[in-house]
Amino acid sequence: MTDYPFATEVITEVDLKSRVVELGQAISNDYLDRSPLFVVVLTGSVLFAADLVRNVEADSEVDFLGLNRFGEGGRIGIAMDLSAPVVDRNVIIVEDIVDTGLTLKVLRRMMTDRGAASVSTAALFDKTRRRVTDVPIEYRGFEVGDEFLVGYGLDWQGVYRNLRSIWAVMDIEAFVRDPKVLSKQLHSG
Ligand code: 5GP
Repeated sequence: MTDYPFATEVITEVDLKSRVVELGQAISNDYLDRSPLFVVVLTGSVLFAADLVRNVEADSEVDFLGLNRFGEGGRIGIAMDLSAPVVDRNVIIVEDIVDTGLTLKVLRRMMTDRGAASVSTAALFDKTRRRVTDVPIEYRGFEVGDEFLVGYGLDWQGVYRNLRSIWAVMDIEAFVRDPKVLSKQLHSG
């Protein structure tokens, strides 16, 4: 683990990898007799989804959904819709982080309303303490605290999605002043 005054590495690449393998095995066991359709929520979930689907043995398909979020309260709009209907499909929503749970709640209802045969969720991170609405997560990677996380798909103002491990922001003001503060540090040595 590495430490800087403004950010700390909290989950290593090795730990991420082995947890994603476990999630893939759990999904493989549960979907032996039905093919899942992974609905990947852009953009933060893309790295997780790419590793997850490679660890699922069942035949599967992948589609992408882009969302617009409107402030607090979980109001979302569709920025980019799925390429095909989900009617009679066994949908697995792939999310990076579940925070308040409002986005996931809307998404699950959307999939059910569109006629999915079943809906479940694979979320890499769960900020349980910040939940404002009850929503099931069938495949959960890590329970995490309240800190803002970056890396492995998660961004701060578009930066850091390419980091191989997960970092917690310790000094948010430093990131507001300079969104690339961590990047500069990591690449200075
Ligand atoms: P919710 O509707 O559950 O409050 O929103 C979840 C979304 O908030 C995630 O999909 C993600 O886009 C964003 N989010 C929540 N916490 C974090 C975090 O720690 N880091 C990043 N990069 N995004 C977060």
